[in-house]
Amino acid sequence: MKMLLTPGPISTTDTVKRAMLADYGTWDSDYLKLTEKVRSQLVAVANGNANYASILLQGSGTYAVEATLGSAIPKQGAVLLLAINGAYGQRMAEIADYLSIPHINVVFEDTEVIDPAQILKAAADHPEITHFAMVHCETTTGILNPIEAIIPNLAAQGIVTIVDAMSSFGGVPLNVVNLGVDYVISSANKCLQGEPGIGFVIAKQTTIAKTRGNARSLALDLFDQYDTFEKHPGKWRFTSPTQVLAALAEALQELKAEGGVQVRYQRYITNQRSLSAGMATLGYEPLLDATAQSPIITTFRYPDADFDFQNFYDFLKKHDFLIYPGKLTEIDSFRVGNIGAVYETDIARFLSIVKQYDGATVAKKLVK
Ligand SMILES: *Cc1c(COP(=O)(O)O)cnc(C)c1O
Repeated sequence: MKMLLTPGPISTTDTVKRAMLADYGTWDSDYLKLTEKVRSQLVAVANGNANYASILLQGSGTYAVEATLGSAIPKQGAVLLLAINGAYGQRMAEIADYLSIPHINVVFEDTEVIDPAQILKAAADHPEITHFAMVHCETTTGILNPIEAIIPNLAAQGIVTIVDAMSSFGGVPLNVVNLGVDYVISSANKCLQGEPGIGFVIAKQTTIAKTRGNARSLALDLFDQYDTFEKHPGKWRFTSPTQVLAALAEALQELKAEGGVQVRYQRYITNQRSLSAGMATLGYEPLLDATAQSPIITTFRYPDADFDFQNFYDFLKKHDFLIYPGKLTEIDSFRVGNIGAVYETDIARFLSIVKQYDGATVAKKLVK
């Protein structure tokens, strides 16, 4: 089987995959219980309390982002402030444009961490701002943004805050109560190590309770999805991805068995450090400063002008590793993920394959 060193879907355990080998009736009490268990476990992963609820949504992560922006923000009298340092921040701006949500963008370089001072200044300069959204780990580069230095401050000013924690949730510790955040968005198939097909939102109940009628879309009405779960525990509003939910339930058990988010975070850090150090000795320089680097995914510069990414990719694939192309327009780069059912021995094996590749290309150049 191929090992995915990507930002998701990622390599899952055999037991998570096997959890999908069953059929479930969506009105059956076992399935309703399983859904409710997943909902409460997700709040626990976020270190939430009874003031928070999780809302599951059919679809990939972007569906949950679009549902949140389209339901949290009223149609009149609201302005969204966006902090952007990569493609996923840009995607929120694009969603806001589609939904005709007025927004102010504060844009940083992709290699630059979002600066809290500039965000707080923008909020002070624009008293019309009612909502704020940012990405936690910008998967474009793998940069980790300082939500702790931004969210509590804006929340204290009465601004509704939204964090896209898609690629960090379950892999980097986060505490919704300490942040005072209103919405945190993620999906099943990244650090939670489940299968793709479910997005979810951890929402502050007093905030979401006030959003009835805001939605610009029926299927992506987050309030109605929340209301349905609250009134009919375990019952999804429309057909639910039953096998994906069963896999997520198993994945959450495995997160607990591993020791929780803190232990998984350490494993990812170890993966990332071994990968980064090993690649550097082979001539592949990481793009980001170590201080800005998340443990989720690492961007590497091409080692030289002759580097042929497709050739490199094909070689790795032949040895059962799949990586990701870069997502930067200005710098030639590729990305390697550190998340999923991936351990130090896998990183060591990956590095040995990269070393073989370098040997093979050097030999080819000598022949020429
Ligand atoms: C993966 C990801 C998304 C959502 O992507 P989908 O392809 O829709 O699952 C959104 N934001 C971030 C930061 C991501 O890493």
